Amino acid sequence: MGKPVIYCDFDGTITDSDNIIAIMKKFAPPNWEAVKDQILSREIPISEGVGKLFSELSSEKKEEITLFAIENAKIRDGFPEFVEFTRSKGIPLYIVSGGIDFFVYPILEKYGPFDGIYCNQADFSGDNIKILWPHACDSLCENKCGCCKPSIIRKLTKDEDNFSIVIGDSVTDLEAAKLADFVLARDLLKEKCLEWNINHQGFKTFFDCIDAIKNRTEVKKLAW
Ligand code: MG
Ligand code: ZN
Repeated sequence: MGKPVIYCDFDGTITDSDNIIAIMKKFAPPNWEAVKDQILSREIPISEGVGKLFSELSSEKKEEITLFAIENAKIRDGFPEFVEFTRSKGIPLYIVSGGIDFFVYPILEKYGPFDGIYCNQADFSGDNIKILWPHACDSLCENKCGCCKPSIIRKLTKDEDNFSIVIGDSVTDLEAAKLADFVLARDLLKEKCLEWNINHQGFKTFFDCIDAIKNRTEVKKLAW
């Protein structure tokens, strides 16, 4: 086994809860709950649903929504220590998120820099907010993910021998988890890992993640 690489989700993983849901609850565009349910039941693709939700919000609310998202987000315990741990071990840490740049970047800013942050983008130049998808699915994925985590992993894992670790909380991390050598999972993703027989361990805080990763032989081989 080769060098460890970490792919970490943002919403509900680095933050305690989902920021898009919090924004929708607060600014409540018409029918947002129905659209949310359609996304979760996979009736419509994530990209279509998220695009639809934001397209009902005025671009004039940019500052207000951004401030709300930043103030509302709570970082999971142990995250700063976890980032420090990956740095000290020289383990690349990529953030792969279905969130949107206008809240992902400012919330993460004080913990960075990271090896890469992959998320969706918001365009506030029109009347209403338009979501852009700079990391859409490659030819091997047909899920219309929006920000396609498996595609990003395929692109970044150039070395076949890498030991890839995925950290996440939801069904939106499942396709990435299937590509991983080891998964740290909470909430729905943990259930899915059991169902799919994916090599995983549960976690509550990032201190659990540090312990779990430290104990991997692939990591023990690295010099401090
Ligand atoms: Mg998540
Ligand atoms: Zn995809």
